[in-house]
This record gives sequence, structure tokens and C-alpha cells, in this order.
Amino acid sequence: MAKLELSIHRCINTLSKQSGCYLCEDSCPVDTISMENQTPEISQSECIECGGCVSACPTEALSLSKFSPLELVFESVESSDETILDCNSNIPCLVSLSPEYLVSMAILKNKDIVANFGSCGSCEIFSEVGGQIDSQISEANLLLEGLNSSKRIKLISIESVKDIQKLDSKKRGLFDLSAFQRDNSIFDSDTLKKAKEKSTPDRRKLFLMALQRVESSNHILLSSDLSSLSEKAIKTNCNNCQICYRVCPSGALKSDYKNSFIEFNSSLCLKCGLCIDVCEVNAIYETEDFSLSKLIKRDKERLIEFNIAKCHECDGYFTKIGDSNLCHRCQIEESEALELWS
Ligand code: SF4
Ligand code: SF4
Ligand code: SF4
Repeated sequence: MAKLELSIHRCINTLSKQSGCYLCEDSCPVDTISMENQTPEISQSECIECGGCVSACPTEALSLSKFSPLELVFESVESSDETILDCNSNIPCLVSLSPEYLVSMAILKNKDIVANFGSCGSCEIFSEVGGQIDSQISEANLLLEGLNSSKRIKLISIESVKDIQKLDSKKRGLFDLSAFQRDNSIFDSDTLKKAKEKSTPDRRKLFLMALQRVESSNHILLSSDLSSLSEKAIKTNCNNCQICYRVCPSGALKSDYKNSFIEFNSSLCLKCGLCIDVCEVNAIYETEDFSLSKLIKRDKERLIEFNIAKCHECDGYFTKIGDSNLCHRCQIEESEALELWS
């Protein structure tokens, strides 16, 4: 059985050649992952199952066979005991928990979460993963503060935590798990078809559920402090080529059947950067600020609207930019025909 599993259809590199995602390769402390033809190749024998790549991947394309952060959150919330995250007990490594999971755990449990660094000093990979752990916990605390929660991820350093209670994975009272289960039907069709399906990773579903417990927040954070949250804007040079909202893996970018506008929902955006990578005219970009109010309300924002007309030749809808009444393809065909007959 593979230690580290890759759901290739979730990897954004399968959606576009222009994608430049190397987050999993960069986060692995023992060089288990190498990018071959833009596809992550995993050397299972090298993998030490720390989960660094799993928390770094924006689309949850990677998962460990022996550890599920989602399960851990449920177990933590269902237990009345304090949750102490410890690599000798309930997690493979502190790096395995993304800020979204940490924040969800603290909000849903309504208690501080304790992260034990006691074993880090003697850990061989700490020099490689320490920075990622530090930024994930700092980001989680920044979000908790911004969301007006009094709970925090607290750090302790105890070498042996004897009292950590093994969490009971059988209790499932608090939540409707079906909301988080993957749709197995998509695993029967081919990879490309699956890759085109928009989906929200489990950790984002959980995070959005946790946010329902937050009343409001007017805090504005800096996008650069956030690893998986961002807002987008579009400049007027956008030619409505449709690529960004067609490739967006989560459905954060959308349009209507006439492609008459582009709408953005920050609660669905995974900050994977694919929309920016594929835009040939550099029209779409990440804004500096991130509004927690829009995130909590799941506000949709119309980033741009287009003048849509019906093509006089083929009757298809097209984005009218100049005076022509023909769509782009019919314009090309018309000029080719003129060239031929002249
Ligand atoms: S981090 Fe995820 S999306 Fe990015 S290359 Fe690795 S598997 Fe693909
Ligand atoms: S809006 Fe862009 S960054 Fe956000 S999920 Fe979609 S493609 Fe990725
Ligand atoms: S923002 Fe860029 S990729 Fe998106 S429709 Fe406009 S030109 Fe195309």
C-alpha cells in the first residue's frame, strides 16, 4: 500500500501546462517528490510520512494512507479532553496540519489547541520543516485573531506526553459526515474528465463550516500572510478568453452561459494561482488585501462584465470588443475567404 497517495486529477498541473505548482516538491524534507513532465513522481520508499506536502498542496491532491487530518479534527472536537498535537501520539508531524485544519479545530472545539514541540529538538527533519510549521501555526493564530476568536494554537515543549489520551475514532455524533465524504462516482471516469470537475477540498468544507460559528469580522488581512486564501481582481485588458474560469479547480471563478461576466467567491478560492498562470494578457491578479467579512458571508463579487452580442454569421454569443458583428472565429474565416477570392 502506498504511504503517500496522489489523486492525479486534483493536481492543478494536470489542468494546464502553464501551471507552475511545485509546492509538494518544495515542502518535502527528504526529496521524496520530484516533478517529471509536470507530474509529481513519488518515491514511496523514501517517504517518511510527515505530511508536509499534504498540508502544502492547495487542492488536497495528496493524502497519507495512515493519517487523515479531517478525522483528527472530528476526534478532537468530539473529545472533552484538551487536544495536544504531538508527533508521538496523534499526528505524524506538526507540519501535517494546514492553517485551515488548525483554525477549524480551535473554533469547532471552542478551546485552545496545544502543539507540543518537545520532540522537535531531536528530530532529524526539523531544520527542513520547522519554517513551514512556524508559518502554518502563525497563520492559524492570525486568522483566529482576525475572526474575533479568543482561542489560539498554543505551543508547549514537553519531551514525553504520557497523558495524551488516544482519541476514540468511533464516535461520530456531532456532524453529518456525509457532507465531507468524497463523491466516489467520479473515480470511475477518466482522469481528464475528473480534473475538469470543480470540487472543494475537505479542509475547505470543514473550514467553512467552522466559520458558521463566527458572527462577524471587519478585519482586513494581508494576502501575503495567507497561504490558501486570496481575493482576485481583473484589469480592463481582459479579453474574455474564458480560460481562467474554465480551469479554476474549485469554482471560485464563474460565469454564466453567455460568458457575460466573471464572478469570484473568495470562500472557494484555494490560492492555487492557476488563473494567474493561464492568463496570457496578465489581466487577473491577486489583491493585496483580504476581507474576512467577505469570506464569512461567502460574498460573490462581479469582477468584470462584458458586452455580449450574437454573431451575425453563426448565431453564437461572443464578446463584442470593436465594431464587428462577427465572432472571432467568423472574422478569421471571413478574412481567409477574402484573401482566397481577391
Ligand atoms: S502541491 Fe498539489 S497541486 Fe501542486 S504539484 Fe503538488 S500535487 Fe500538484
Ligand atoms: S480563483 Fe484562481 S487561485 Fe483561486 S482556486 Fe480558482 S484558479 Fe485557483
Ligand atoms: S482574466 Fe485573463 S484568463 Fe481570464 S478571461 Fe480575462 S483574459 Fe482570459
